[in-house]
Amino acid sequence: MPGLLEEQAKEEDTNKKAFPHAAAGAGPNGNGTSANAPLPKGVVLDKDGKPCRTCTSSTAWMSMMKSSTSTKPAQPQPAAPSTPVSQLPQATPAPTTNRPSPPPRSDCPPDVETLGNHTWTLLHALTATYPPAPAPSHQAKTSSFLHLFSQLYPCWVCAEDFQNWMKEPQNDPERSGALKSQEGFGRWMCRAHNAVNVKLGKEEFDCNLWRERWKDGWRDGSCD
Ligand code: FAD
Repeated sequence: MPGLLEEQAKEEDTNKKAFPHAAAGAGPNGNGTSANAPLPKGVVLDKDGKPCRTCTSSTAWMSMMKSSTSTKPAQPQPAAPSTPVSQLPQATPAPTTNRPSPPPRSDCPPDVETLGNHTWTLLHALTATYPPAPAPSHQAKTSSFLHLFSQLYPCWVCAEDFQNWMKEPQNDPERSGALKSQEGFGRWMCRAHNAVNVKLGKEEFDCNLWRERWKDGWRDGSCD
């Protein structure tokens, strides 16, 4: 079906323009790591060349930390030159059984997923409490917030892709008219979130359900 293929090619092209960091096969982060860097897949570097924790999943981060500690040679402990060998503290023998590693802590710095999940909660909550008919000054403040947010978001690859997405005329929050009403803003945020879902290979959310998910709770009363 040439029509469908053309449509798909067009969509891929639009996605590439909107998300230049999304490298094919680069894992869910669409990361900006150098191909030569000896880093586990999925670790994204910051602009200063250091690994960016808020751009990387905790799985990739921990795998990088493990590989960096396992390749470090054991450091010899300096002893006072006059101490006789028999009086040196004895090294604790290594345990002979494999102890299960402790469960991951819940109070570590955020990875790309925790940061993203919590941020979407904030952004969708913002739409849920947006006035049904906002004053022009409220629309302008919201537009400024979204532009500043897209520049300051602490995962730089995410931020740059989001800025590029917002540059498309139909995605500009103000010019597209999305900020004129609560319904418009709720649907705009849902489209913005879906654009990231698509980039990450996730399922798209049905935007007809944005109010139930983020404002009123599910129709079956399960949130009440
Ligand atoms: P999330 O995507 O965080 O979604 C949370 C909940 O929102 C879901 O459980 C669902 O109930 C609901 N939901 C899902 N989609 C929609 C929608 N369209 N509308 C309304 N509700 C919805 N991660 C990367 O790895 N690379 C990136 O480049 C990247 N860019 C991001 C850009 C921004 C601006 C933000 C805020 C986050 C970005 N993330 C990125 C994080 C990513 O979007 C997810 O937050 C993260 O992968 C965790 O996903 P999750 O499964 O917890 O669900």
